[in-house]
Amino acid sequence: MICDRCGQPFEMQLWDDFNQVVKLVDNPEAMSEDEDPDVTYISRTESHLNVADFIYEFINLSIPMQRIHPDDANGKSGCDPKVLEMLEKMKQQGDQQTNPIWKGLEKFRDN
Ligand SMILES: [Zn+2]
Repeated sequence: MICDRCGQPFEMQLWDDFNQVVKLVDNPEAMSEDEDPDVTYISRTESHLNVADFIYEFINLSIPMQRIHPDDANGKSGCDPKVLEMLEKMKQQGDQQTNPIWKGLEKFRDN
């Protein structure tokens, strides 16, 4: 994965559980129009099923929306320290510069 916070690659352990029902039918092409993604129809005469596409899809579904370096054993961020330092600097600069859009509204902020 590429970390959303620091942009550096890292390994993420994935775990998830999916069920796929495979039904043996006489006419699988006609049955597939049911559009249920959890059910796959194959011909009764079929002896093999290629699960590569399922595995690929399940892996993609198990990847979380937000991908951030996990903390290390000491509870410290696993992100690139140089990037963290830069982000912290940018945050401090952002705090100092108040957006002129909000000028005049500041007096209401603490109410
Ligand atoms: Zn990171």
